[in-house]
Amino acid sequence: MEEKFGLKALSTGEMLRAAVEQQTEIGQQAEERMASGDLVPDDLIVAMVAERIKASDCANGAILDGFPRTLAQAEMFDEVLSKRNLALSLVILFEADDEAMVERISGRFSCASCGEGYHDINKPLTREGICDVCGEKRFRRRADDNPETIRHRLGDYHALTEPLLPFLREKDILKSVDAMAEIDDLKFAIESLMKAT
Ligand code: AMP
Repeated sequence: MEEKFGLKALSTGEMLRAAVEQQTEIGQQAEERMASGDLVPDDLIVAMVAERIKASDCANGAILDGFPRTLAQAEMFDEVLSKRNLALSLVILFEADDEAMVERISGRFSCASCGEGYHDINKPLTREGICDVCGEKRFRRRADDNPETIRHRLGDYHALTEPLLPFLREKDILKSVDAMAEIDDLKFAIESLMKAT
C-alpha cells in the first residue's frame, strides 16, 4: 500500500522496538511496559509520532499502524494535526476474534534478514530453517508474542482502545474490514477503502 498510494507506512510498535534496541531515552522508558504487554504512556507516543511525521518521507501522508490506541492519544494527535492544517482521513478497524488473534500472533515469526513474515501453521517455511525469499537461516519472534502477553494486550485493547471508536465514528472516518477473511480479500477491502478516501 505504501508505494501504491505514495504514503509512508509507520508502525509505532516497530518504532518503539528500534528505540529499545538502541536504548534511547524513549526506549528505556518503554521497555518494561512493552515486555509485559502494557501500553506506553500517551504523551510519549504522541510526541514520538508528531516528531516522526515531520520528516520529508511523510510529506504526502502516512499510514499509521497501531496508533492512536487510546482516546487521549487521538485527542492529543488531533490537536497536533490541526495546528499543522492536517487531519486523519481514514481509520481502518480490523475486526477479528480474540482467540483467532492469540493463535495468529503466537505463531508468527519473521526472517531476521529480509523481514518476510511467516506463521508456524498458516504460512510455514517451505524448507525447514531457511527463508523462502532470501535463504537466511536466522529468524525473529517477538518476546511479547506469547499467549499470556497477547491476552493481556487484547484486554487493554477492549478496555482502552475500543472506547476510542465512537470518537472516530463521530468524525465519520472509521471503516471496518473483516480481518478473518482470506488475505487477498482483506487486501482488496483495504485498497478499496483507501481508493475511496
Ligand atoms: P505493536 O507492534 O503495535 O503490537 O506494539 C507493541 C507494543 O508497543 C505494545 O504492546 C505497546 O506496549 C507499545 N505500543 C505500540 N503502539 C502504541 C501506542 N499507540 N500506544 C501505546 N503503546 C504502544
